[in-house]
Amino acid sequence: MIVGLTGRNCSGKGEAVEFLKTKGFYSYSLSDVIRDEIRGRGMDVTRENLIKVGNELRRRHGHGVLAERILERLEPDRNYVIDSIRHPAEAQALSRRSDFLLLAVQASAQVRFERIRQRDRPGDPQTFEEFRQTEEKELGNSGSERQQLDSMEDLANHRIRNETTLEEFHNRLSVLLLQQMSRMDRPGWDEYFMRIAKVASLRSNCVKRKVAAIIVRDKRVISTGYNGTPRGTKNCYEGGCPRCNSLADSGTRLEECLCSHGEENAITQAAYHGVSVKGGTLYTTFAPCLMCTKMIINAGIREVVYNQDYPLNDTSFRLLEEAGVQCRQHAVD
Ligand SMILES: [Zn+2]
Ligand SMILES: [Zn+2]
Repeated sequence: MIVGLTGRNCSGKGEAVEFLKTKGFYSYSLSDVIRDEIRGRGMDVTRENLIKVGNELRRRHGHGVLAERILERLEPDRNYVIDSIRHPAEAQALSRRSDFLLLAVQASAQVRFERIRQRDRPGDPQTFEEFRQTEEKELGNSGSERQQLDSMEDLANHRIRNETTLEEFHNRLSVLLLQQMSRMDRPGWDEYFMRIAKVASLRSNCVKRKVAAIIVRDKRVISTGYNGTPRGTKNCYEGGCPRCNSLADSGTRLEECLCSHGEENAITQAAYHGVSVKGGTLYTTFAPCLMCTKMIINAGIREVVYNQDYPLNDTSFRLLEEAGVQCRQHAVD
């Protein structure tokens, strides 16, 4: 999950970051991207350079640039909190991740002014009127490189008020987090198994094509196989298969090919370990050829799910149908 925070000065965004960090969230700030850019250029990280380089990046690459660069750093299996989202384009870039949530932290002007007085930093407004004027200047300015916090609060998926105690604020954050976590977005079984098959295909040793199959029973993987030359012989890419290495035209001289197919290897791997594949489902990155189709039928596999069509597979489909083996496509990227 990615929680993006927006909100006015002293509304409590920093407090929200600290709280989420105690719950295992990794924190990023969009200005981290500017800091890295500045260091990469061999410049000093000063407030002036932060503003200058930030504006330059936005002018050259659009207003979502910082968020886009942050996105590249995020792992899919971790929770993140990203502080100070100030522009709608940044929220838009982050919402490419389906688990992104924009959260506006809100507190009245009076409460925020009191917090500013309490922290008492040099340059902070001294009176409530001064505070309001400074804020008005920053808000609602249509200049596209200015902060557009008003529209950010409208865009937010959730708004949380932080005007009373820290404990109450933490409680509100907890309730929201638990609500969101229960809406977890994860791949379905078909996508899960097909992606495992695709990873297995990366281990193929064939120069012509990378294919793999996995066999699943009771929603558990019981065997895997990728294409390549047989166990104990020279790998195809090291010259092990003369047919593949002579760059034969697709679909020709198949009888000379020394490479075993992914489906064939998934079935024989199960045999190697003495595991029955009867009643299983075979996920394959390519629709099976005729030889593999015959093996699938006779091994007792009851369903074939394939990612991409193989050009020669009409006979295979007909045979699978006649033998009562279900066959369907589930395409993943
Ligand atoms: Zn090969
Ligand atoms: Zn095959």
